[in-house]
Amino acid sequence: MIASSVSEAGRLLRSGATSAEALLDAALDTASRTEAQLHAFLTIDADGAREGARQADADLADGIDRGPLHGIPVALKDNMCTRGVETTAASQILAGYIPPYDATVVTRLRAGGAVIVGKTNLDEFAMGSSTENSAYGTTYNPWDLSRVPGGSSGGSAASVATGSSLLALGSDTGGSIRQPASLCGVVGMKPTYGTVSRYGLIAFASSLDQIGPFTKTVEDSALALTAIWGYDPLDSTSYEGEYPNPAARLDRGVDGLRIGVVTELSGEGFEPAVEAATADMVARLEKEGVEVMEVSLPTFDIALSAYYLIAPAEASSNLARFDGIRYGLRVEGATTEELMTRTRAEGFGPEVIRRVLLGTYSLSAGYYDAFYGQAQRVRAAIQEDFARAYDQVDVLVSPTSPTVAFAAGARTSDPLAMYLSDICNIPANLAGHPAISVPVGLDEAGLPIGFQVMAPPLGEETMYQVAAEVERLAGFEISPRALDGAA
Ligand code: GLN
Repeated sequence: MIASSVSEAGRLLRSGATSAEALLDAALDTASRTEAQLHAFLTIDADGAREGARQADADLADGIDRGPLHGIPVALKDNMCTRGVETTAASQILAGYIPPYDATVVTRLRAGGAVIVGKTNLDEFAMGSSTENSAYGTTYNPWDLSRVPGGSSGGSAASVATGSSLLALGSDTGGSIRQPASLCGVVGMKPTYGTVSRYGLIAFASSLDQIGPFTKTVEDSALALTAIWGYDPLDSTSYEGEYPNPAARLDRGVDGLRIGVVTELSGEGFEPAVEAATADMVARLEKEGVEVMEVSLPTFDIALSAYYLIAPAEASSNLARFDGIRYGLRVEGATTEELMTRTRAEGFGPEVIRRVLLGTYSLSAGYYDAFYGQAQRVRAAIQEDFARAYDQVDVLVSPTSPTVAFAAGARTSDPLAMYLSDICNIPANLAGHPAISVPVGLDEAGLPIGFQVMAPPLGEETMYQVAAEVERLAGFEISPRALDGAA
């Protein structure tokens, strides 16, 4: 890559030192060297991107500057609809589906002059934590090709880490931006629920889904969020009030802030290197003038159970639309019912079927209150726990993931082990709060470790303020070496 960040690329573009076409060439060149081993993309739209880059260059030459993302090569998780470009959510059931419209985030990116390189791999319908549930083959981790990139937005994380894009969007329902960001050593951010439009995002669990950016730097993350968020009448849960300025306090330092270290997100199941990196960062923040306290949020221990009732329940309802009539795959049958049954049996992978079964069961008449109703009560209790914690502290911190990137195949036959991958991330989804993962170091095997900063709803300014300081203190170099020799 000519530039190592969105902000650097923007400076080079505006000084005339590079062009959008040259940035695109660099991204495509990286992809052509790395994709055979990495498989971050499901579709690369070289022609569409070329057209976008030429337009971006022509606009700049005419004095039209569309803002920080002008001319920047961007990758999109393949669950965001792109007009004229196949969008599959990594499912066979959507094979060949070409949306007739753009998701709102895509419209905003285009209006901001971004150049869309292609669509990245994910766990089918964003269900998973390793990108191994994709119907089109797994993505690998650019730091170690025998390991997973995390998931479900593993393709987006891997792409930014290697430089086949400078910015990628993912979706985070229960950690799917932050966890892969952590495992791939990049910055990944989930905004406050309702602030980034879900219009055109293929729904998984609508009360939890949020789109957010993967970037190499915290500043880029704040720039990208500013470009994609804002009220959208096409999303019925879109936030209509005032939005904070994510970049307002990036250079402010952290002196005087109060930080809570979450007791429940440590101990059993957490790798020693992850705990050490977290403790080390907390100690460094303290030296910078932060007041640190241990905060206990007891409901975090049952967040995962609540999530795995609520998310599948919503998924079972959202996925009912894939019936062989309206989209993508159709397997013929003698009757309409047979057509639908066969299409769904063939079109959905095993994890998706497991979720639909779980969700349908927990919503069924006799079990609704015992399972779904109970999970909703836990969700409310988590929100209360958070509110109590934020009476005492400005932000909460924890590891992003209990472990570094795990070996491909290690958790595929054990759904519960896979589900535990997101234990640090899920509470913020259930509460609708913003959270970010910033890379802070490597373990002894050279695998990245992420540090999570959570903030109250619309607390993005403070969240980014702390994240910027974490980034500065860590001095982490994003240099995945597994693909160095790839030609
Ligand atoms: N790993 C979680 C799941 O499988 C989260 C997925 C996500 O955030 N999209 O549901």
